[in-house]
Amino acid sequence: MDFTVLTLFPELINSFFEHGMISRGIEKKLITGSSINIRNFSTDRHNTVDDRPYGGGSGMVMKPEPLQAAVLYAKKKMPESKVVLMTPQGNRFNQAKAWEFACPNKGLIFICGRYEGIDERIYASVVDEEISIGDYVMTGGELASMVIIDSIARLIPGVLGSCESPKSDSFSDDRLEYAQYTRPEDFEGLPVPEVLLSGNHEKIRQWRKRSSLQRTFLKRPDLFKKTVLNTEEKKILLQ
Ligand code: SAM
Repeated sequence: MDFTVLTLFPELINSFFEHGMISRGIEKKLITGSSINIRNFSTDRHNTVDDRPYGGGSGMVMKPEPLQAAVLYAKKKMPESKVVLMTPQGNRFNQAKAWEFACPNKGLIFICGRYEGIDERIYASVVDEEISIGDYVMTGGELASMVIIDSIARLIPGVLGSCESPKSDSFSDDRLEYAQYTRPEDFEGLPVPEVLLSGNHEKIRQWRKRSSLQRTFLKRPDLFKKTVLNTEEKKILLQ
């Protein structure tokens, strides 16, 4: 799957592609990632990419021409890719959206805004979808694009070490993940639950299910309300 990020700060994005699981996914050729500097598509000798807003007001607005040219350039390389605009006004990103983007695995081209945002006409011209990572305003779309790429990339088979990990992750089925423990067995008087040391896989599976349901109930009652419990889960909770 290809991730192309259109930005005024390519170094931010390039560094992201060079670290951790993402860089390993790139090395294994499971994903590709690159940035395109929007400024390279400016048409004047000052490399202008922004201008004052019509109607007055503070701040600057990103001009449509360099943005459109950058998107068309990226599309030429990756015609199948979906163009996603980072904006606090977009649809809220979540785990379900991450899965939707990850399968069927089409590429994504991200437009990262800066300043007061981008000229409205770019929406109609080249954008397929507007995405927000939350109800707050950041100075640019780069962090948002990295959040999204990171959460999608780990769903691509082979990017993570273990194929099982994303399946039990929080939000994969409207629940939070169960509690996790590692060594030491006793940390400042707090022991690891005995069942996890028992080697009894069935008991461990049931304990994890209960832990997941209890945590969802306590930490995210809004999610728990949506949860439909099957017969086994009802039994486990009543035990
Ligand atoms: N004036 C705009 C508004 O009120 O809707 C906000 C512009 S913001 C300062 C600059 C850029 O940061 C946006 O164009 C967008 O690309 C990015 N951005 C800021 N907050 C974001 C969020 N919550 N999700 C996604 N992108 C965001």
